Amino acid sequence: MIPRTVFTAEHEMFREQVRRFVEREIMPHHAAWEETGVVPREAWLKAGAAGLLLCNIPEEYGGMGGDFLHSAVVIEEMSRAGASGPAFSLHSDIVAPYLLHYGTEEQKRHWLPRMARGEALAAVAMTEPQGGSDLQSIRTTAIREGDEYVLKGQKIYITNAQGADVIVVAAKTDPTARARGVSLILVETDRPGFARGKPLKKVGCKAMDTSELFFDGVRVPVSNLLGEEGRGFTQLMTELAQERLVQAVRAVTAAEVALEQTIAYVTGRPAFGQTLADFQNTQFRLAEMRAEIAMLRTYVDRCLEVHLQGKLDSVDAAIAKMQATEIQGRVLDGCVQLHGGAGYMWEYPIARAWADARMSRIAGGSIEVMKQIIARSLLPRQEKRPAARAAE
Ligand SMILES: Cc1cc2nc3c(=O)[nH]c(=O)nc-3n(C[C@H](O)[C@H](O)[C@H](O)COP(=O)(O)OP(=O)(O)OC[C@H]3O[C@@H](n4cnc5c(N)ncnc54)[C@H](O)[C@@H]3O)c2cc1C
Repeated sequence: MIPRTVFTAEHEMFREQVRRFVEREIMPHHAAWEETGVVPREAWLKAGAAGLLLCNIPEEYGGMGGDFLHSAVVIEEMSRAGASGPAFSLHSDIVAPYLLHYGTEEQKRHWLPRMARGEALAAVAMTEPQGGSDLQSIRTTAIREGDEYVLKGQKIYITNAQGADVIVVAAKTDPTARARGVSLILVETDRPGFARGKPLKKVGCKAMDTSELFFDGVRVPVSNLLGEEGRGFTQLMTELAQERLVQAVRAVTAAEVALEQTIAYVTGRPAFGQTLADFQNTQFRLAEMRAEIAMLRTYVDRCLEVHLQGKLDSVDAAIAKMQATEIQGRVLDGCVQLHGGAGYMWEYPIARAWADARMSRIAGGSIEVMKQIIARSLLPRQEKRPAARAAE
């Protein structure tokens, strides 16, 4: 087996701490959180105290001052345990970077230390009922009136929505423009006119808090703008590369764990006077899955190295997310099949992991959107292609 070389001994020590925390503070409660559809604030506070939040944010803003590999350790250990409820990574590795990279000094000093302690929860709201893939067409507006923006609109499928104290909202400050009309605005959830729907009942990731949000004339000061007006779409596209790497890291770990669980299951399950593991079909399926995961792990680790150098581009991130989540889907489906009826029972971790995995090919940019990004990098722009020019 090709050894992983991306983590240092220090990261591995951190991994031990994270693993113990997840075993002690997360997994004993996870099934109960699946019933309510929300992870209680207490768990966030404990995660903050244990150093699991904002690992990759500088110490001067309350973070751990680690690198993205510390974040990857948390993502891997949560995925390894099947802890799909607490959206620590969305909070730490997806929302916090918007504040770090585009926030004013005041915004960073106000929010990041609270987020690192788990005292303030954060969410990002892009998707709307009319569509999530076409972000340039969002309908939520933030129209300037004097020193305030007034937000009107609706968002859907928003993770951390119930718990969030602050939300990075993508809204049109210029509704007549497409991409250039989008801005990112911080909305505190105690503002009049803001409301959340009930937690949505999902197929998987049942403990993860996912809801609708409503903005009915919510007024925020113009100082809540993140970065520059009209730059929101570019900011989203820049930060989505890390979000896609997060998803790839989570997916490859989930696939590895599913394979381990399946090997344990088939070696213990009797059938026709032998075990499931004695059938050549089982052995070949396990071998195919192992090979797919091994190739994937090597690519994702390489992406981690490139990302640490600040050089991971949107195309490689899209490739990582697309391949990782497709392979995760194939592996999980194969593992459920090898479990037989047990694989369809919620009490078995493989059934939960299979249901959890389905979201990763949709959320944070669907597989089809990843293909668009990759294809665009392969082809010259349409107006520059010979056929298009010949038709002029
Ligand atoms: C559990 C969960 C958590 C989520 N959390 C968040 C969150 O925190 N914040 C947030 O903003 N959003 C969140 N989302 C929303 C998610 O990002 C969107 O669901 C996703 O971007 C797809 O948007 P949509 O659902 O509107 O599908 P649509 O955009 O309507 O797409 C439907 C289908 O059509 C395909 N399609 C769309 N356009 C094209 C095209 N041009 N070519 C080919 N195929 C196309 C899509 O790939 C998809 O298969 C979450 C979703 C889920 C399921």
